[in-house]
Amino acid sequence: MAKKPVILTSLAEIIQETPRVSTFVVKLPDDGAFSFASGQFAMLSLPDFLNDKDRPVRRAYSIASSPHDLARSTVSFTITRKGEGGYFSNRMHEAKVGDPVSLEGPYGSSFVLDTQDPRPHLFIAAGSGIAPLRSMIRTLLAGGSPPSIELLYGFRNAEDFIYARELSEYAANIKGFSLRTAHSRPSGAWQGLSGRVPEVLPALYPSYQGQVVYICGHPEMVAQTVSWLGTAGFPEEAVRKEQW
Ligand SMILES: Cc1cc2nc3c(=O)[nH]c(=O)nc-3n(C[C@H](O)[C@H](O)[C@H](O)COP(=O)(O)OP(=O)(O)OC[C@H]3O[C@@H](n4cnc5c(N)ncnc54)[C@H](O)[C@@H]3O)c2cc1C
Repeated sequence: MAKKPVILTSLAEIIQETPRVSTFVVKLPDDGAFSFASGQFAMLSLPDFLNDKDRPVRRAYSIASSPHDLARSTVSFTITRKGEGGYFSNRMHEAKVGDPVSLEGPYGSSFVLDTQDPRPHLFIAAGSGIAPLRSMIRTLLAGGSPPSIELLYGFRNAEDFIYARELSEYAANIKGFSLRTAHSRPSGAWQGLSGRVPEVLPALYPSYQGQVVYICGHPEMVAQTVSWLGTAGFPEEAVRKEQW
């Protein structure tokens, strides 16, 4: 991957999404030099957080905002605090509004939203894998006549629902947008889908109905999801995936 220029930005806003996940909104220079497509990622670093070779520690993060949000010269990243061993993500969660952040990118060409595809869109995410799909959904909804959109989103329980308000508002207000959430560790009160994404998929999607599918999550979830979709007759061409 050819190296892209490093852009020095600053943290404009930090939105706590869940106890372990925050969205970091960075302010870009107003020169309009940064552009990207939904699904791409960038390498982030903190100028004062160096490795043992005195180089900035860098990590890849999917862009969670839409290219339409560039009108405000901002771009967002939604980052899980890994806890023990999470070298960069823990440091990122200690950052404050106004701190400098370096951004390099965008990178990635295989998991990019095709905004011209008229097929119904099925988005399937687990945990912070929702980040690039949120960018894609925002892009589609900002366009003139979006295709129908279904989102199947899996997480542990209600407190781990990233973008809860935004996604619930879409589901309540936008005709043609439907949201299903699945809890892998449901509380006693939960009456919706229970189980991990690959466990609930077969009953929901027993056969191919002409959709294009974008999947993002951890490798095991993605592999099992792709495997089921193949069994259900989804053509390989219609299934796009990202994992970390
Ligand atoms: C294309 C792409 C997009 C991505 N997008 C996102 C995104 O949108 N949001 C997001 O949150 N992440 C994303 N990631 C993952 C991200 O790049 C980092 O890998 C993640 O934040 C962890 O980095 P870290 O430095 O905190 O953890 P690291 O220190 O690199 O550790 C990685 C993992 O190993 C474990 N670990 C480390 N050391 C030890 C040890 N001694 N013992 C046991 N376990 C250990 C950590 O707990 C952690 O789970 C993406 C990755 C890729 C490749």
